[in-house]
Amino acid sequence: MRLLLAEDDPLLGDGLKTALQAEGYTVDWFKDGGQSLHAALNEVFDIIILDLGLPSLDGLDVLKGLRNRRCDTPVLILTARGAVDDRIRGLDLGADDYLAKPFDLDELAARLRSLVRRSQGRSTPLLEYAGIVLDPAAQKIRQDGVEVELTLKEFIILRYLLESQGKVVSRSRLEETMYGWDAEIGSNALEVHIHNLRKKLGQQLIRTVRGLGYRIG
Ligand code: CA
Repeated sequence: MRLLLAEDDPLLGDGLKTALQAEGYTVDWFKDGGQSLHAALNEVFDIIILDLGLPSLDGLDVLKGLRNRRCDTPVLILTARGAVDDRIRGLDLGADDYLAKPFDLDELAARLRSLVRRSQGRSTPLLEYAGIVLDPAAQKIRQDGVEVELTLKEFIILRYLLESQGKVVSRSRLEETMYGWDAEIGSNALEVHIHNLRKKLGQQLIRTVRGLGYRIG
């Protein structure tokens, strides 16, 4: 899951980035409204967290810019406590959810999972395929009822493939999901994770689609 975080407060932004990475999101953090809008329109994100008070372009204008350009990525806005008008305007401009500051990180994580689920047209939280059950909230995998230990990167890859069940996911999309923009990617890093996933979960689960990417189902 690739997440865009638009937040100009350095302490809050830093804390959010660390917490969201631990939840398995790849986080691209921008401290400026204009840069956030530019990035959201030019790259593929699964979800956007948008602070409303941002330099260069206000969060509500970022939101307006996104929806005017038909970008329908789910957006959760962060508002000041008591700022009811901002929340109403944000929701009417196309935000999908909001949280008032200060908020609880566990609540934010749960709301993000619910937004992702809805954007994928699912109402049940568990991802399932051929005896494999992945629980995004608990970050746990079971295969035929037995828990399987995965690394965070393996978990991120498996979750993305299960969410895209039946569709081919390109290598570059998986790499973006794992690393975001700036991190260095070893040329065979993805293959290594896929190899390890196959060793743990069986060779048949993840199929290589030559020249295109990988697929489950
Ligand atoms: Ca702010």
